[in-house]
Amino acid sequence: MKTVTSVHEMTNLAYAFRSVGKRIVLIPTMGALHRGHLSLLKIAKELADVTVMSVFVNPTQFGPHEDYSRYPRPFDEDCRKAEAAGCDVVFAPAAGDMYPPLHSTSVQVDGITTRLCGKSRPTHFQGVTTVVLKLFNCIKPHFAVFGQKDAQQLIIIRRMVEDLYCPVDIVAAPIVRENDGLALSSRNAYLTQEERSAAVLISEGLQAVEKLFSDGERHTAPLIETIEERFAQSSLIAPEYVEIVDLCLLEPVDRIADSALVAVACRMGQSNTRLIDNIILGGRL
Ligand code: AMP
Repeated sequence: MKTVTSVHEMTNLAYAFRSVGKRIVLIPTMGALHRGHLSLLKIAKELADVTVMSVFVNPTQFGPHEDYSRYPRPFDEDCRKAEAAGCDVVFAPAAGDMYPPLHSTSVQVDGITTRLCGKSRPTHFQGVTTVVLKLFNCIKPHFAVFGQKDAQQLIIIRRMVEDLYCPVDIVAAPIVRENDGLALSSRNAYLTQEERSAAVLISEGLQAVEKLFSDGERHTAPLIETIEERFAQSSLIAPEYVEIVDLCLLEPVDRIADSALVAVACRMGQSNTRLIDNIILGGRL
């Protein structure tokens, strides 16, 4: 496996791959790799000849009081995991290389970025789309794999790709969970033992909703209530939102006609760790 730390070198390498007809697939990550990330790599390997995993804690997607400085950065371990999983290139640029002093351009997707997580993280998705377009431009991937775990992010990236004619296919990967249902996340490491135990209520709520939907319930109010009841079972869960929205504009729906996204975000106890999770009812991303 090759480790590339400069944008210039990555750009040249991408040209070299393309010039000999190699198909490139990108898996963008912020590192602290877990089985969720590695599942994306597995899907990626089926899609193309060269897998490039970016490991970059992107400063522009963190708000001023968020966890940018303390976000875990176990880089050597990440490289070992990526290599063991068959990754070809890890691209890990320095923040100053991605955002040099004169950097002044950003990518803003309107509308859908203000919904769900956008309400409490108003600048987050602009940081995401900006860094992802920069990664697309220097890595020149034919495909990019994103997790359904961040469903809103995936929908926003697809919007950007369509709006800006980015020549890349966006592939969605299913959510990888712990045995008890908790969605894997690099931020789970922040949880205390008690918070970790309470966090199982999140996926339990989503599973209960899935069951009600498969039994025929189409009104969203009782589905939302089901999740809120679960959250109310623990004082360690402070819900931020529980919403059922359409898959295109992310607008709340009262009744599910065919498909919908059930998305939740909450803060956990003293550690104040922010967790998100979701399920898609009647469809897929
Ligand atoms: P992150 O490092 O958190 O920015 O995530 C990098 C990519 O991994 C994103 O496309 C995420 O959606 C995806 N991802 C994170 N957690 C999971 C998970 N539990 N299952 C599948 N994909 C995930």
